[in-house]
Amino acid sequence: MRVGLLFGGCSGEHEVSIKSAQAIAKALASGDNQTKYQVTPFYIQKNGVWLGPEASQNVLSQGLPLGDQPVTPQQRWQFPSAAAQMDVWFPILHGPNGEDGTVQGLFSLMQVPYVGSGVLGSCVGMDKLAMKMVFEQAGLPQVNYMGVERGEIWSNPCVFPALCDKIEAQVGYPCFVKPANLGSSVGIAKVRNRTELEVALDNAASYDRRIIVEAGLTDIREVECAVLGNDNPQASVVGEITYDSDFYDYETKYTDGRSQMHIPADLPPEVVSKIQTMAIQAFKAIDAAGLGRLDFFYQPATGHIVINEINTLPGFTAFSMYPELWRASGVEFPSLVDRLLQLAVAYHGQPS
Ligand code: ADP
Ligand code: MG
Ligand code: MG
Repeated sequence: MRVGLLFGGCSGEHEVSIKSAQAIAKALASGDNQTKYQVTPFYIQKNGVWLGPEASQNVLSQGLPLGDQPVTPQQRWQFPSAAAQMDVWFPILHGPNGEDGTVQGLFSLMQVPYVGSGVLGSCVGMDKLAMKMVFEQAGLPQVNYMGVERGEIWSNPCVFPALCDKIEAQVGYPCFVKPANLGSSVGIAKVRNRTELEVALDNAASYDRRIIVEAGLTDIREVECAVLGNDNPQASVVGEITYDSDFYDYETKYTDGRSQMHIPADLPPEVVSKIQTMAIQAFKAIDAAGLGRLDFFYQPATGHIVINEINTLPGFTAFSMYPELWRASGVEFPSLVDRLLQLAVAYHGQPS
């Protein structure tokens, strides 16, 4: 089977995507996969230009972004003409323009199978407001939240104080202000008073038209569960992230040694099974497929478990939570990649 490995992309998680792609390429060149799959890499520069296999292979081998430097027409790649040359695609792009249904729409239109959720699951999973509304309908417990439009923050100076009053009344402090369609904690602020709220709203509005304000939980443990499958998805063991900063912000996520993964998390068995059940429920609620990492907050003092979010294309490096959770559940990295490609073909169509 010819596998198109699509990586890089126009999001803040470009570098992680390269590392994920390296790990996947290595897994496809090992053991049984070697005889089953033939990988062709396709790299998307930060400026959105798609590169062909040769230039992409160089990026993959070196593991470093190419930057926005201009490329020759020969190095560029025209998507439609070559899409059909692949039997299945593995888009390992995180965040906007990759995890949000855009690339998924392109593949769906081209009628080629691809790893992961379709258009609906991808875009609902990406937009934190849409996601929370769907989770609410599914009866999943979550924090109190409120949607805000950029227009309420920027266009009308009379509306803004009233908006802040409303947030204080409905959500209160501390709260988290987040652009709805990002990841990696970009644009997210923890807010404790009116001044911080005003700054955070203005900042979040510079990233997105849609903003979410959530009640901030305290004394929580951050636990994550990996889901794998299509119609009958399975949940992995549960893992935990710990760190020494105020919350799991961008710097903590991407600075070596600032956070630790604990697999499996030291949790009562009934908490684990509740999380696993909720993970599958949430995965199905947004119509996800293939893979998803479901993130939860567990408050030991009260025993409450609330769902935080789904990531439909989670980090996939050799050390990332998603593959590590499956490894601890008995699925090694190369067979995980194999399973995902088989699931892609089963879900999105047969290879040409
Ligand atoms: P992203 O999609 O960018 O990862 P998250 O919604 O997961 O965004 O938020 C990033 C981090 O912010 C979380 O991992 C957690 O540390 C903190 N956080 C987010 N929302 C809340 C909340 N409601 N209460 C407490 N902490 C939160
Ligand atoms: Mg996320
Ligand atoms: Mg998160």
